[in-house]
Amino acid sequence: MRHARLDSDILDTDILVLGAGLAGLRAAIAAREAAPFLRVTLISPRRRPSGSSFANRNNALGMQAPATDQAEGFVAEALRLAAPGVAVPELVRALAQDAPACLDFLLGLGLNFRREPSGDLRLFPGCFSNIPRAVIFDGLASAHAAFLARARGLGVHILHGHEALGLAQERPGSRPFGAWLAPTRAGRMQGIRARAVVAALGGPAPLFARRICGPGGSGLAYGLLAEAGARLVNTAYLQWFWLETKSLGFVNPGELRWPEPLALLAPARLLHCPTAVGLADAALDQDLLARLRQDGSVVAEHGTRGALRLVPAAHAGNGGALIDEQGRTGVPGLFACGECASGMHGANRLGGGMVLSALTFGARAGRAAAAEAQAAPAPGRDLGPQPVVSPAPDGVQHFLRRLRRGMQRFGLPGTPDSPARRDFVATLGRIAQDVGAGARERLLAHSALAILEPQAPSS
Ligand SMILES: Cc1cc2nc3c(=O)[nH]c(=O)nc-3n(C[C@H](O)[C@H](O)[C@H](O)COP(=O)(O)OP(=O)(O)OC[C@H]3O[C@@H](n4cnc5c(N)ncnc54)[C@H](O)[C@@H]3O)c2cc1C
Repeated sequence: MRHARLDSDILDTDILVLGAGLAGLRAAIAAREAAPFLRVTLISPRRRPSGSSFANRNNALGMQAPATDQAEGFVAEALRLAAPGVAVPELVRALAQDAPACLDFLLGLGLNFRREPSGDLRLFPGCFSNIPRAVIFDGLASAHAAFLARARGLGVHILHGHEALGLAQERPGSRPFGAWLAPTRAGRMQGIRARAVVAALGGPAPLFARRICGPGGSGLAYGLLAEAGARLVNTAYLQWFWLETKSLGFVNPGELRWPEPLALLAPARLLHCPTAVGLADAALDQDLLARLRQDGSVVAEHGTRGALRLVPAAHAGNGGALIDEQGRTGVPGLFACGECASGMHGANRLGGGMVLSALTFGARAGRAAAAEAQAAPAPGRDLGPQPVVSPAPDGVQHFLRRLRRGMQRFGLPGTPDSPARRDFVATLGRIAQDVGAGARERLLAHSALAILEPQAPSS
């Protein structure tokens, strides 16, 4: 395949935020509030609400909102759910500590929260918990509008229609001095110089043929962060939902008819919509996964609806760049938050925990990036070599379709080793290492490998 280097323009900013979901917008707002004299630029591939935050099919989001006296119980519950993944107690505590401020922030935006007849916020148990301490807001397009208005009001510069295809760095692990942005339609590559970069790129669900994340995700996050030198953890732990193929409605395996002794696990399975890792009731999902047919579906008997054809759909990832309490990735000047950051949840995550982490670490990363940008050296004129981009969008689409089919076949939980899986992994490995390959294809391959061949937690 021929590749082209496009002409480029170079822009300047102080803090560059990549991604316009809850995490990216929260980070941009916090950065500008912390340092109103610094320029904050937010990159958003789409103008419309997008990604899992503002375009998910539920048109609602729940957030864990432990009150101060519930903090300890929340931390204990979240840590209990983390094995066999990596959860850092300090990061989980940060969620509990910031939860009241996150809720105040959302209330201050005027979001449409579900309330009791008394007007109090209505509390719900999140998945994997029976303690009602999560709040829910409805209407994601208006939530998006409120976030955008707050960011614009503070003077955040929002650049629509671009996707980051790489950081400008001397080498992986060194301080980024900006990023390269590809147009989402035909046009020129854009370089952007910055003193600090916040990655809020969303999760890995766009890498799969069956997915329920909102449109506008790229699936590039793991690859981009790994290539920048960040350490990834928990990348094997995606949450999956079962969809009924005709209605595309969710079906909880706890609602299906099971023979003994699996039937005993159904009540526990009803406590969470996504699949679990390491919990006893994961046996129900494993049974369904083991019975998937060539077309990727399984027929199962529902308790009241008869036989249903089900498919697993990728929902959200629990992995990402391991961050510290201020959202630092370990690469100087590079921060991460939201679904592309990890360490605050492990293999399983409390329902409503991701919105809380996107807001907690979005705000913390934004503030820390503002401090970093004031101390960081000014970036030089030269951003270094541009990423290689494929001149044929059709070629990238074709690659993405193949990748998604392969990930749906070989990237499901517990997929056994096989010669076909090894071939798929080897092909991705070659693309990920090929410096001449298109950057998008390379990053996609790298992201997929982070799921198929995750690094050992101790490495
Ligand atoms: C149906 C559904 C329901 C959910 N419900 C809940 C819930 O109730 N509670 C909960 O806690 N979690 C829930 N989740 C998970 C949660 O919504 C997401 O994990 C969270 O919103 C992610 O926020 P984010 O900002 O990290 O990513 P996103 O909202 O996905 O935003 C990522 C942003 O990055 C942009 N982007 C992608 N690639 C690039 C690039 N290369 N360069 C620049 N920008 C890029 C995208 O366009 C997007 O703007 C749900 C998820 C789904 C799919």
